Amino acid sequence: MTDSVKYLLAEDQMPKAWYNLAADLPVPLPPPLHPGTGQPLGPDDLAPIFPQAVIAQEMTSERWVEIPEPVREVYRLWRPSPLIRARRLEKALDTPARIYFKYEGVSPAGSHKPNTAVPQAFYNKQEGVKRLSTETGAGQWGSSLAFAGSLFGLEVEVFMVKISYNQKPYRRALMETYGARCIASPSTLTEAGRAILAKDPNSNGSLGIAISEAVEVAASRDDTKYALGSVLNHVCLHQTVIGEEAMQQMAMAGDSPDVVIACTGGGSNFAGLAFPYIRENLKGAKVRIVAVEPASCPTLTKGRYAYDFGDTGHLTPLVKMHTLGSTFMPPGSHSGGLRYHGMAPMVSHVKELGLCDARSYAQTECFAAAVQFARAEGIVPAPESSHAVKAALDEALVCKAEGKSRSILFNLSGHGHFDMQAYTDFFAGNLRDPNFADDELQAALDALPTVG
Ligand SMILES: *Cc1c(COP(=O)(O)O)cnc(C)c1O
Repeated sequence: MTDSVKYLLAEDQMPKAWYNLAADLPVPLPPPLHPGTGQPLGPDDLAPIFPQAVIAQEMTSERWVEIPEPVREVYRLWRPSPLIRARRLEKALDTPARIYFKYEGVSPAGSHKPNTAVPQAFYNKQEGVKRLSTETGAGQWGSSLAFAGSLFGLEVEVFMVKISYNQKPYRRALMETYGARCIASPSTLTEAGRAILAKDPNSNGSLGIAISEAVEVAASRDDTKYALGSVLNHVCLHQTVIGEEAMQQMAMAGDSPDVVIACTGGGSNFAGLAFPYIRENLKGAKVRIVAVEPASCPTLTKGRYAYDFGDTGHLTPLVKMHTLGSTFMPPGSHSGGLRYHGMAPMVSHVKELGLCDARSYAQTECFAAAVQFARAEGIVPAPESSHAVKAALDEALVCKAEGKSRSILFNLSGHGHFDMQAYTDFFAGNLRDPNFADDELQAALDALPTVG
């Protein structure tokens, strides 16, 4: 049908393997380093906090990694996710562009994050782990892991950045509905939390601090492992189910994208959609790949490509990535899921190799784009996803100005039903675009660890 809107795959067309871009990179990824010795990390260094299967996936160079059948069975609750042609948006914009979006908001938690929460919970369960500890910013990751934990019978403990804990009670309630325990971070339960509170009893917390707390809990208890919702190689790997499905669906539409767009916080939903297309580009295809980040936390566009810690307490390994410095405190914004000082090492590497572009937008222009999208397509984007929406709109308007019909594919990583306060603030004119403090960034970059 030439005027189809949704391109749907049957359950048995769901990919049976995740794609690992590491197998095809022209230059290998710089290794993670032990924070104490500065030497490349071995599997044993990660064993206290991750299960063996996850560590193996973190380090593998195999091109395809089989998706275990029990994981595929859970994926079937919402996957394959739809690919939608935004025909009404095209009309509203009066653009000759063909706009497609892959919609990950159909998952139970409302975003792409269960794509990795489910396999991580599965591998932990298989290895006899009883409890998972993790951090969450806005609550998307915490609710995804809480959901996955409930399916596999694991206890889940979530350190939630304090400002979100207070501002987003419904995400907290969702985690508790799935049976997880949610703690405001910094907390008095960990050394890392107590150290922060001693310095600043009113600390609002940050993702970096919450990661320190969650890692500390996992490292200090035999029955507990840690799970991370973005950044790491195995997370990017799990998310490639998005791009592999999208490729089949674009073929169903009889089209292929000229440009592929996704927002980047830690980089995983971008990796998920883009890495399969980068594989094709390495074989000669010419798809433009665009990563979009908030102007208030511009890791890829203003950060330095350097070895840095993943957390504020400096418990994690050193990884080479685009970073604003682990001590940098990004100004508050409504895109909590994009407010992280670092970027996935894989995504950073891809950017350094010139295999993708990056750009940044301020939050108010993203909300304006999201509202325009919602009024044409009906779906209210998550504030994080609105960055991808804004970029897609801009590309479509360029097509209009040039009178060219290009094909645009973007990832709508989640819906915004738990973020309506942000929309209310936007309509009331209460959203600002916080100034990015260049001097604070410089101070944080000056404090980067020296390596090698
Ligand atoms: C967490 C989140 C993001 C950012 O995380 P990535 O790892 O960069 O994908 C983007 N969109 C939504 C809806 C999220 O919940």
